[in-house]
Amino acid sequence: MMSPPLGLYLHIPFCRQRCDFCAFYLEIHREGRAQAFVQSLIQEIGLSAQQHVAAGRPIQSVYIGGGTPTVLATTQLIAILSGIRTHLALASDCEITVEAHPSTISEQDLVQLLQAGITRMSFGAESMEDGDLARIGRPGAVCETVTAVTQARAAGFTNISLDLMYGLPGQSLEGWQRTLAYCLTLEPTHLSCYALTVEEDTRLASNIQRRRSPAPDEGLQIEMDEAAQRMLGDAGYERYEVSNYAKPGYACRHNLLYWTNGEYLGLGPSAQSYLDGTRFGNIADLATYDTSLAENRLPIADRIRLSEEEQLRDAVIFGLRLIHGIPTHRLHQHAANYGHAAITARLLAQQLIEEDGERSRLSARGRLQADTIAGQLY
Ligand code: SF4
Repeated sequence: MMSPPLGLYLHIPFCRQRCDFCAFYLEIHREGRAQAFVQSLIQEIGLSAQQHVAAGRPIQSVYIGGGTPTVLATTQLIAILSGIRTHLALASDCEITVEAHPSTISEQDLVQLLQAGITRMSFGAESMEDGDLARIGRPGAVCETVTAVTQARAAGFTNISLDLMYGLPGQSLEGWQRTLAYCLTLEPTHLSCYALTVEEDTRLASNIQRRRSPAPDEGLQIEMDEAAQRMLGDAGYERYEVSNYAKPGYACRHNLLYWTNGEYLGLGPSAQSYLDGTRFGNIADLATYDTSLAENRLPIADRIRLSEEEQLRDAVIFGLRLIHGIPTHRLHQHAANYGHAAITARLLAQQLIEEDGERSRLSARGRLQADTIAGQLY
């Protein structure tokens, strides 16, 4: 029997500085710490290959995220890739993504990454208006995004994604539409559009509390979401998930694994894994991570085995976010398992979830309330 697809996520926990809205686990980049981390990560790849059920299974997608992977030297990224190839089996058509902040990468880096087998570049643009970037404490300038995309294409990358955020402090609907229109001129194959959310203990949360920055306006975010759906749809992008749009054939294979409850191995500090019905996560502390690997121990901090009902719950909640949805009988099975029949009936009656015979999915209106609906079905 063919084994189900398996993904590999690597968390590179460094950035040059922390953006105001960011709550990810990361450290400010220092060369010495980064070099030690690269050694630890390669050690973790080797140990994982020996100890997990992942061993021997071909990996269909690798996602190098963070943090900002491209604060590492390109030679360090290539060394990590070579560690993966030494210890794990990559499928011949493996999708290999590197996330990059546009100001941390040069044309030469891009040429070397392509030659090393990276198939997909994902640039964190966030906005195409410099004022928006300044108001969220995001380093870099719009012209650097334009340069990075142009250079990636010149280097030979044919699969380029841009990450955007909307509902930023001071951003108007017209400003968001200008950002989308500018992005379209760059012709990415994939766009992720995330509504700004305010995470606890971030500079943004504190700015809002002190009234130095306005809180996101939910009504405006809904209008922005609708504008993105309209403009990107008209430009030939398919909205295949709540926050993700792609030209036909360019949906992100790695992210699809998360939404289809597929299996993935996450390496690096704070990275999460889901294998064989078990969720487990690494320690979110670089020093402890390094020490653990120096002692030849995997840096796993917590592990939870999911029952069959819990696996179905997660498959339903993630799968409803997809345009293709899930088999309808699974939605009703989950409702029966968790006593959610009345809630599910209400969501259907309100047309937040739609059924067309054999498949169920969030409706266009339901996608705008995806997180609330997930909370109700949990
Ligand atoms: S670049 Fe990304 S990971 Fe780094 S601080 Fe900013 S949002 Fe967070």
